[in-house]
Amino acid sequence: MSADRSTDTSEGRGVPEVASKGTGLLTRYAASMVQVFGTPQIVLASGQGCWVTDIDGKRYLDLLSGIAVNALGYGHPALVQAVSKQAEAAIHISNFFTSEPAIQLAERLLALAGAPTGSGVFFANSGTEANEAAIKLTRRTGRSRIIAMEGSFHGRSTGALALTHKAAYREPFEPLIPDVHFVPPGDADALRVAVDGQTAAVFVEPIQGEAGIREVPAGYLRLARDLTRRHGALLVLDEIQTGVGRTGDWFAHTSAGIRPDAMTLAKGLGGGVPIGALLTYGPEVTGLLTAGQHGTTFGGNPLACAAGLAVLDTIERDHLLENATRVGALLGDLNVPGVSATRGRGLLRAIELSGIPAPLVMQEARDAGFIVNAVTPTALRLAPPLIITADELGGFLTALPGILERAQALS
Ligand SMILES: *Cc1c(COP(=O)(O)O)cnc(C)c1O
Repeated sequence: MSADRSTDTSEGRGVPEVASKGTGLLTRYAASMVQVFGTPQIVLASGQGCWVTDIDGKRYLDLLSGIAVNALGYGHPALVQAVSKQAEAAIHISNFFTSEPAIQLAERLLALAGAPTGSGVFFANSGTEANEAAIKLTRRTGRSRIIAMEGSFHGRSTGALALTHKAAYREPFEPLIPDVHFVPPGDADALRVAVDGQTAAVFVEPIQGEAGIREVPAGYLRLARDLTRRHGALLVLDEIQTGVGRTGDWFAHTSAGIRPDAMTLAKGLGGGVPIGALLTYGPEVTGLLTAGQHGTTFGGNPLACAAGLAVLDTIERDHLLENATRVGALLGDLNVPGVSATRGRGLLRAIELSGIPAPLVMQEARDAGFIVNAVTPTALRLAPPLIITADELGGFLTALPGILERAQALS
């Protein structure tokens, strides 16, 4: 506070303006962090509902929610209370023991996923770790070949990275695990050729998030299901970004009418508390990993599991799947100059721009008080909290033409 006051007293006396607190912190960031994220845009301090405030007091409508993580926004009483209560009871206990929240969350997830008796959950701390567990699961088939999709993103560990398509992410770290083959998503013939008796698994994101919200047709998911079943391979769905209500369904693959052999979740599941999960369907798949073959220190801790339960309870109680569908529909068909197309479902959406660089639009939106993400050079990603109202999103849609005009003028 004293620093702020001294800034105030200097006002109007010809003393050079003192840099904002955010600028000062970003300088310290540059001098203290590994620079893998480049320079962050702003320093955020706190949030309430769908709104977040930076360290200098500017408010933003958060249309990205920590990359599809803050499903209940900021400061949601159900989540805050669940986490506070669990923190008082026990934050961590190790996997030599277990806890009621962990068991309850596993049961709830399996029920929501429609998994048969004999299914199981392995809790991790992130999406990458959930996929890593899935990769190890597939190795237990006795085969090693994995088919993944061009445009895929499955994480940054040396296993999950091998399944991530973008060369710039992968190549500096090669050699990664071998025998991963990429096929163009949605290309039925390519998949028919790729999947055979050597295939351990096919990994698919029902909607590719990092590639710019690109959905594979339901028929392609069904084909992947048929081919993997026929050849004794596993179908693994990465619903880390699409799961837990994001698309207006509990899981994005449900509407395709298929059941995978395994599914990975993370992002929205803990509402911001780090958690990942691998679901294995049925006793045969679940039995592939036996005692001692995998593990984690933090995974399944009662704090994260209590957070997960609070998120699932709130989605159900407050009808947030319906909200995601209803409010998300406002982003379905934008008749705005500079917008050439929209993609996605529920509250996972892309706005494709015509001739205006997405990073410039992101910057103009931020100046106007809206957080969005330039997911590709030409597209914005929106993944707001599932609690967002039509009025809140309407505020962005009203501002969008002006934002695009200003970005266009800069480009
Ligand atoms: C974010 C993401 C991951 C990686 O999750 P982390 O929690 O960052 O490790 C994996 N797959 C998909 C589809 C994702 O969106």
